[in-house]
Amino acid sequence: DPQLNQHYTFENFIEGECNRLARSAGYAVANKPGGTSFNPLMIYGDVGLGKTHLAQAIGNEIKRNLPDKLVIYVSCEKFCQQFVDSLKNNTINDFVNFYQAMDVIIMDDVHNFAGKEKTQDIFFHIFNHLHQSGKQVILTSDKPPKDLAGLEERLLSRFKWGLSADIQIPDLETRMAILKKKMYSDGIELPENVVEYVANQIDNSVRELEGAMVSLLAQSTLNKKEIDINLAKSMLKNFVKNASKEISMDYIQKLVCEYFEVPVEMVKSKVRKREIVQARQISMYLAKNHTKSSLKSIGSFFGGRDHSTVIYACQTVEDLIETDKKFKTYVNDIMKKLKAS
Ligand code: ADP
Ligand code: MG
Repeated sequence: DPQLNQHYTFENFIEGECNRLARSAGYAVANKPGGTSFNPLMIYGDVGLGKTHLAQAIGNEIKRNLPDKLVIYVSCEKFCQQFVDSLKNNTINDFVNFYQAMDVIIMDDVHNFAGKEKTQDIFFHIFNHLHQSGKQVILTSDKPPKDLAGLEERLLSRFKWGLSADIQIPDLETRMAILKKKMYSDGIELPENVVEYVANQIDNSVRELEGAMVSLLAQSTLNKKEIDINLAKSMLKNFVKNASKEISMDYIQKLVCEYFEVPVEMVKSKVRKREIVQARQISMYLAKNHTKSSLKSIGSFFGGRDHSTVIYACQTVEDLIETDKKFKTYVNDIMKKLKAS
């Protein structure tokens, strides 16, 4: 029993910009454990973004392709506990031998090694043994190796040997795709506007996103109400901790593009058609006034432009608001939608 959860697969792990490198490195490792330069593979990122899912998907994929491989998934916490128990019971050798016999070890949340020197020492030896025998090590952590405080230098230096790949919060489209996939596999169909609303409101964690959806389903069943945008709104009022939620650039871009009926990708492209330029400049203007993003990050979000382009765009929009009535209406309309969300 490799302690793997069968539900965590590549199949149901939605790919996005936020996890592309980690996912593809994971996939490479899954198909050639120990045989890539990604050893160890360290997946890091904030809580609730899919580290455990991806790490387990790698394990499940290995077992699917290579059923004879010995794969173990263990949380760092559990490993520490097992170590303490083995000290108590005088079974240290069994403990070490068990792990050293593995072909693949997946250790989740290695930041929990902090302060546990003896367990780190033992893991250091297990790691070396496995690595030298060409076995695969997969780690997850809430920080990149360089920021892991409380871990011994020699262990950290090992962690840096292979590849460290981060997982970030998925963008709006990816969050919507995750929700849809999840609902679909549960046999539930949701109105598009509900999916969008929920994905918009919850932009810090995939776990919370799923949690919100579960509450929504529960509310609907309990109150025998259809899941619609009103139910979603009343439910999320209690769910979202921070009422004055920040507006994201993703959302601005989406609203503006919907309004002008231009494809979202165009705004980030180099296209200089008038309506695209207009959508791009208004998006930048709204991002400057309604998000905390810096000019630099606004520029880079909207197609890798520099901060002077953003300043120029904002100036242009302000001028047009003064001189062009129709333009002013456009901007006001979009602003209203932005605030209504
Ligand atoms: P972490 O280990 O980083 O705290 P988890 O792996 O436990 O996060 O993920 C939290 C939840 O979000 C899980 O139910 C997981 O299946 C889901 N999840 C996260 N990322 C994705 C994704 N890209 N596609 C589908 N589900 C995801
Ligand atoms: Mg986890």
